[in-house]
Amino acid sequence: MIIKTFINPPFGNNNYLIIDESSHDAVLIDCSAPSPDIIEFLKDNKANLKYILITHGHFDHIMGLNYFRDKCPAPVFAPAKDKDIINHMLDYIENTKNTLNSIPNYTPDTKIPVIDNYFDNDISFKIGNNEIKVISTPGHTSGSVCFLLNDTLFSGDTMFYHSYGRTDLPSGNETEIFKSLDLLLSLPKETVVLPGHGNETTINEELNFYGAKNE
Ligand SMILES: [Zn+2]
Repeated sequence: MIIKTFINPPFGNNNYLIIDESSHDAVLIDCSAPSPDIIEFLKDNKANLKYILITHGHFDHIMGLNYFRDKCPAPVFAPAKDKDIINHMLDYIENTKNTLNSIPNYTPDTKIPVIDNYFDNDISFKIGNNEIKVISTPGHTSGSVCFLLNDTLFSGDTMFYHSYGRTDLPSGNETEIFKSLDLLLSLPKETVVLPGHGNETTINEELNFYGAKNE
C-alpha cells in the first residue's frame, strides 16, 4: 500500500492518496485544491481513482473537488451531517476572504462542489482487499469522521499532533470532541495518525502527551 501526502492550499491542508498496488485501486482523502501533482502520481502508478472520501464539510477540505470532477472523476463521499456546512461553503469563503486573498498564486473556487453520496457512519469502503472503516468523531463539526485503514488513521481535523481541531465554528462542540479523542485514544497504540493539517503522529505519542498533561 502506498500512502502519499500532498500538502495543498489554502491552509497547508494534507490530502492523502492511497494506492493499493495489487488492484491499482486508489482513494483520495480530502480534496483541498486543484492538484495536478495528484493526477500525475495516479498516472505514474497506473492507478484508478475509485473514491474521494471527505473527513468533514469545511471548505478547505473540499475546494479541489470541482477540478477533480473535470480532470479525473470519481464518486465523492461526504458525511451526511455536514451537508448543511457544505451548502453554506460560500458564506465561509466570504468570511475568510481577506485571508484567502493573501495566499500567493491562489484563487479560491467559488462554486459549491457536487457531493455524489452523503453517508451515515455504518458505511465502509474497499480498496483492493482492504477495508476503510468510518469512525464517527463529532466535535470539530457534527459530521466529522476519521477513516481507519488497517493500522493507519486519517483523522481529519479531529486529532492533530499534540492538539485537536477547533470547536468554535458552526456545529463545533468541545464536549463532543473530547469524547471523540477518547475514542481514538482507545485504538491500538501503534496506529499511525495522519491528520488534516500538520505533522503525523501515533496513538502512543498522543497517549503520552495527554497522560503527561494530566499528571
Ligand atoms: Zn475543519
